[in-house]
Amino acid sequence: MPRLGVLGWPVAHSRSPAMHEAAFRATGLTGWTYQRLPVPPEVVEEAIRALPAAGFRGANVTIPHKEAALAVATDATPRARAIGAANTLTFAEGAIHADNTDAPGLLAVLPRDVRGLDAVVLGAGGSARAAIWALLDAGARRVALWNRTPERAARLAAELGAEAVREAPAADLLVNCTSVGLDGDGDPFKQLPVAADGLGDYDIVADLVYVPSRPQGTPLIEAARSAGCATVDGLEVLVGQGALSFEAWTGLDAPRDAMRDAARGPLHDPSPHPPEPGPGGDGA
Ligand code: NAP
Repeated sequence: MPRLGVLGWPVAHSRSPAMHEAAFRATGLTGWTYQRLPVPPEVVEEAIRALPAAGFRGANVTIPHKEAALAVATDATPRARAIGAANTLTFAEGAIHADNTDAPGLLAVLPRDVRGLDAVVLGAGGSARAAIWALLDAGARRVALWNRTPERAARLAAELGAEAVREAPAADLLVNCTSVGLDGDGDPFKQLPVAADGLGDYDIVADLVYVPSRPQGTPLIEAARSAGCATVDGLEVLVGQGALSFEAWTGLDAPRDAMRDAARGPLHDPSPHPPEPGPGGDGA
């Protein structure tokens, strides 16, 4: 019986098990399972190496293990190498194959092709790396990068070919890749270089952050919707990457509607697991 799972620390609040279990049901994959794999950083490499012998066909990887997953892989896609992080591992015949579906997953859920458009990315962490790489690889004309710590923005922009900025310019697309908004009810506009009444400067606003207790989306998404922007919330981004992982493991078309319904549904308490650090707003 093929096993899959998501490695993270913490991972207790991950929506991925519900999403993938729904996908198995919708595609008739009986016997396939997908579980949370709470693994602290000090043992992640040995945990990954042990998974194939335990019947795992693959695994998603989330914060803080994406770089370690790439390091332990025996081979990796060019995009995973270029981004420097893997969120999808596939095990076959002794090999550990690494890919990054965060990048194409984001592009897949945007309402338009990004070729020729101008984008602003907020944040310079792991998810910003994947977003910037994806946008430039897909032909975005310009990616402006703002980060709270400007030195990180300058380094990442130079590495990937984006442009570090101190203020967010008007653009076709705004992507929030900071963790601002994770607390749900705070005011994101105190911490980001955009104002609620300035969101009309963007046709599309995507927020990677999602807060399960706010079905209406983060305050940034709510404000963008009120400003008339097209919006893409963090759960949609989650479905985008998860669908591509599912396709890589099973060879089947992902049942995106079933996955979306499950990701947006109530979170069932995970099976007993060791104590983990507090919620981190994972990407899987
Ligand atoms: P990360 O590597 O820890 O980066 C965090 C970023 O947020 C950094 O740029 C940091 O800026 C910035 N930041 C943190 N607190 C801030 C504040 N108070 N004001 C302004 N900027 C602040 O995290 P990540 O992996 O990129 O993930 C970022 C968020 O995206 C996560 O929290 C998660 O919710 C979400 N995510 C969602 C998905 C999905 O599938 N929906 C996938 C991946 C990530 P400094 O450099 O100044 O510290």
